[in-house]
Amino acid sequence: MVQEYKLFIGGEFKNSSTGEVFEDINPATLESLATIQIAGTEDVDKAVDAAEAGFRVWSRVPAPRRAELLFRAARILQERKEELAVLMTEEMGKILPETRGDVQEAIDITNYAAGEGRRMFGETTPSELNEKFCMTVLRPLGVVGLITPWNFPIAIPAWKIMPALVAGNSIVFKPASDTPLLALKLIEVLIEAGLPPGVINLVTGPGGTVGKAVVQHPRIRAISFTGSLDTGKWIMKECSKTMKRVSLELGGKNPVIVMDDADFELALEGVLWGAFGTTGQRCTATSRLILHEKIKDEFTKRLLAKVKALRIGNGILPETDVGPLISKAQLEKTERYVSIGKEEGATLLTGGKRTDPGLPGYFFEPTVFTDVMPEMRIAQEEIFGPVLGIFTVSSLEEAIEVANNSKYGLSSAIYTGNVGNAFKAIEKIEAGITYINAPTIGAEVHLPFGGVKGTGNGFREAGTDAIREFSEVKAVYIDYSGRLQKAQIDSAE
Ligand code: NAP
Repeated sequence: MVQEYKLFIGGEFKNSSTGEVFEDINPATLESLATIQIAGTEDVDKAVDAAEAGFRVWSRVPAPRRAELLFRAARILQERKEELAVLMTEEMGKILPETRGDVQEAIDITNYAAGEGRRMFGETTPSELNEKFCMTVLRPLGVVGLITPWNFPIAIPAWKIMPALVAGNSIVFKPASDTPLLALKLIEVLIEAGLPPGVINLVTGPGGTVGKAVVQHPRIRAISFTGSLDTGKWIMKECSKTMKRVSLELGGKNPVIVMDDADFELALEGVLWGAFGTTGQRCTATSRLILHEKIKDEFTKRLLAKVKALRIGNGILPETDVGPLISKAQLEKTERYVSIGKEEGATLLTGGKRTDPGLPGYFFEPTVFTDVMPEMRIAQEEIFGPVLGIFTVSSLEEAIEVANNSKYGLSSAIYTGNVGNAFKAIEKIEAGITYINAPTIGAEVHLPFGGVKGTGNGFREAGTDAIREFSEVKAVYIDYSGRLQKAQIDSAE
């Protein structure tokens, strides 16, 4: 019998009002890891009540003191790193070195956000009038709703939770239904670090009901969402009804350009890691490989040899390079896109089918298509699986045009030995991130993270922007002249 997990509301684990549950499944073995309760609308209401009470306490704690709690949370995460990484591999499927990286990213953002607790600067500026002082201060938003996907089950929640907390907000957190256990573990860490009751509340269950109730709740002031474009669009529209702030981190169709002057071996390793790390289930995964025609044949041949050598299996085993996909739905979606690619006239070079490494889970072969044309669906739509499409171009200009022919704009990369090519790519590629001589994956927490076009709505996570995402800026005027001074009307003497 696996353990049943409750909701976390007002500092206590509480039974949901629905009495319904779902199973949390290991995608490699299909064994159940836990039973998770499904929240109802009235539980979301209770979570908001608790968060409002939590906000009244937490927003009055000075930011440097809030930061001390986060430093403690970072230490606890560090102590529990291996345990959490193993659990993440079991729950989500990616290989152990990657899940250790996921937990490390959570530790890094927690330390980073904590450091910001002593740097929540406003600005001062001279007034246009004498004996008047002007400044800005940051204020918390109130209760914020955080909705996260399953592919970075600790890192992405931490990217939202830690800056939201240090900025003084309280939280209603709805994690992905494929990875609720890691969300519960993060709650445990925050409880152990001493977070007061009500400051964070966890509601588990389907996005279509529980997530929807969070998005629509009139007393939640902001939604921070990471997930798919379609859900993001719906959330943005819905948030307009209650005038919520909404920050969206959505999909990607990330290109790597390899020029004829690139370091060949470096580019091969980068493309392999970018495309098949996390079984292709990263928003920053390399899904479009744009090769200069002069190197196309040789590069493709050597890439295929490496792709075929990848070992597929349970991510918990040290010999595994590529773990399972997260779910049956994701497996079927990947399979569907392989059929679409073939029908559209792309050439399948390797992979393209399910595989059985001796386990019943959702395993799919690393897949490479060539002869991909920019207008094909496999070139335009996010597959979110281990599928790479190769394009051939004859110049940097053409490569950039292909790279920009996408509704998304998250990450991008160019491999080149020519500094001019590198700077042209930085200038012209439409993306929130451009890597030079490195793959499309590997963001660091002190830089802003986010994309352009269909990838988001202009917000950036991590970096110094993280605090701004969860703060209001208030302008303050202090008139110490003792008389009525009228801006724009009186002139300073
Ligand atoms: P998703 O289906 O949009 O789900 C994301 C989260 O939203 C889950 O917690 C989901 O709950 C919830 N949800 C679903 N429908 C909802 C609704 N109507 N209202 C409120 N919440 C709702 O995305 P996914 O398949 O889990 O994640 C993969 C996507 O995330 C990809 O497109 C990927 O590119 C993107 N992603 C983007 C970034 C980035 O930073 N740009 C990072 C990682 C992933 P359930 O789990 O219960 O369905």
